[in-house]
Amino acid sequence: MRPGGVAPSAWVVSVTEHKRNPGMQRELRVAAPLPGLGLSSATVPDGADVEAELELEALTDGRIVVTGVVRAPWTGECRRCLEPVTDVVTAEVREVFEPHPPDGAETYRLDGEQLDLEPMVRDAVLLALPIAPLCATGCAGPDPDAHPVAVAAEDADDAPPPDPRWSALGDLKFD
Ligand SMILES: [Zn+2]
Repeated sequence: MRPGGVAPSAWVVSVTEHKRNPGMQRELRVAAPLPGLGLSSATVPDGADVEAELELEALTDGRIVVTGVVRAPWTGECRRCLEPVTDVVTAEVREVFEPHPPDGAETYRLDGEQLDLEPMVRDAVLLALPIAPLCATGCAGPDPDAHPVAVAAEDADDAPPPDPRWSALGDLKFD
């Protein structure tokens, strides 16, 4: 960081050369953290590097096409056994950056000669993160040995009858 300045983002790249040379392709690799990225079910650790291997190509009309792959590590909780799960998501991207995206356009804004990859990378990772993670395809659910409290409660003589308001939960399927 420069004294008194703002640290330049690793995700902002200059496209000056591209704009002068339409059709030129350039490969680019960025690896930097993107704090605060995640869903309630799976989050990317704040300090962990998100990686992008991209190719930038300028079109003759000033737009830039970005294609490539984005990778991010994540942690979450298995939806069946509630044990921690750690994995990596990979997302393919193919997006267009343009100076003045029209309303409702599915393109990203190109600010002068600065192309900020961060919104695209965040969107791609969010779409790829699992909404209901599993530790393994065949996860059988909670390990009874790891949850002795629930078993003991079933054996207790003076346990109150189950609340009917909760019985609907027994019918829920998480597949
Ligand atoms: Zn599991």
